[in-house]
This record gives sequence, structure tokens and C-alpha cells, in this order.
Amino acid sequence: MKRRSLIAGNWKMHKTPQETEAFLDVFLAVMPRMSALDVLLIPPYTSLDRAGQSLQGTGISLGAQDLHFEPSGAYTGAISGTMLVACGCSYVLVGHSERRHTFGDDDAAVRRKLEAALNVGLSPILCIGELLEERRSGRTEEVLVRQLGGGLDGLDEEKVERVVVAYEPVWAIGTGETATPQIAQETIATIRGWLANNVGERMAVRTRVLYGGSVKPENTLSLLVQPDIDGALVGGASLEPTAFSQILDAALAATEEG
Ligand code: PEP
Repeated sequence: MKRRSLIAGNWKMHKTPQETEAFLDVFLAVMPRMSALDVLLIPPYTSLDRAGQSLQGTGISLGAQDLHFEPSGAYTGAISGTMLVACGCSYVLVGHSERRHTFGDDDAAVRRKLEAALNVGLSPILCIGELLEERRSGRTEEVLVRQLGGGLDGLDEEKVERVVVAYEPVWAIGTGETATPQIAQETIATIRGWLANNVGERMAVRTRVLYGGSVKPENTLSLLVQPDIDGALVGGASLEPTAFSQILDAALAATEEG
């Protein structure tokens, strides 16, 4: 079964609402018209409302970078899934490596966030990936299995159906160093194998698994033609409308080759 590709742009802590609008003015004019791909923008919280309004009717989805696991309460500084839905979000990242390694989100917190997202109808994008020393010491699979199990063990198939997995080797995020298409393909095939053994063959075939880590217009095609890679989670290169649009062009070309 051919899964539909998803290209997501994670802006991290970049762009004010005004800069978001300026990006969208250009991006919506230059992006390829397409029906063969899903496109998702993930701006910071303060730009969600404005982006949500500008994206109405464009077919582009809106997502958030994180959420709190409680639906409401005395959690100063936090944002709930319900608030994200009210801004027009349909996706949310959980377990991004910057959340895991800079803000201390452990597997238990990631699981609670993933369930909170599902409870309000959001599709969580479960981000997983190994550190450089973990890859060098041959522990990549062990780390991915722990993160996958932490996020998905025991969830009903009907819930896993709404989850997207993003494989993002930490050593490739924001470093300019991309995993080779072979490394990305092999690792994502391992992830699909875990899904087959632990969630079921059907979900292994249906679940979208993205690659993330220094994706740029020049390397998108070679990554996305790999049989198990269903799209990209793009950081730096999604901040510039022309570069992000070129990534979509390459993703469309990969769809045509596939
Ligand atoms: C990311 O933020 O998830 C990411 C992959 O960043 P970059 O593309 O800049 O490496």
C-alpha cells in the first residue's frame, strides 16, 4: 500500500505573527498546486491563530510544537490540546528531541502528551531518534524501541491509526548533517518492523513514518523515494518560503517516481 506523503515544517522558536503572515504571503503564491501530498505548518503558539486564519481553504494543515498533558488547570506557561484545536490545529509534535533533551520530556511525559492529543482529536507526531554516541555504540535500535514502546505500547489500533511517527536522528537535527538515504531507509524499516510485531501488520503498513534531520531541497528527492519514508519533518529549511516550496516540488517528484 502506498501511503500519502506528509511534508511538515517545524518553525521552532522563530517568527512573530507578522513574520508568519509575510511568510504565508510568499509561500501561498509560490508553492506548487498539488493534491498528491499533505502539507503541514507548525509555527510557534503565538502565530497559530493568525496562521490558522490565513490557511483556511488552502488545504494546508496547521500543527503545534508541543502541548500539556492536562486539559486545563494551574499550569502556568502551558498550552492544552483543546486550545490548539480552537486555533485550527489538527496535528501536534510530541517528543521532539529538543523537548526531550532541553526540556526533559521523558518517555512517560511523551506518552501522556500523546494520549492528551488523541483525546481531543489531534493527530500526534511522535518524534523519536538516537544521539550520535548511541548510534556509534550500536544502541540505535534499543533507543528507538524504548521510545516507540513508551509512546505506543498498549494503545488500541484505532488510536495508533491517528499517530504519525517521525524518525529524527538527533545528530542530524540542525547540524547540516543528513542521514544518508540508506541509513534513513534501514532505520525506518526497523521502525516498521517494530510496528508489525507490537501493534500489528496492518498498522505497520498504514502508519506514516517521516524522516527529519537537515532536510533541504537538494536531498529531499533521494530521501523520499525510499520505500519506507513517507515524508519529511523539516526545521531550518521550512523557514524560507522558496526553500520550503522547493522541498514540496521534490516531494511531488518522489511521489511520481514511487
Ligand atoms: C526538526 O526541527 O525537527 C528538524 C529536523 O530540524 P532541521 O531540519 O533544521 O534539522
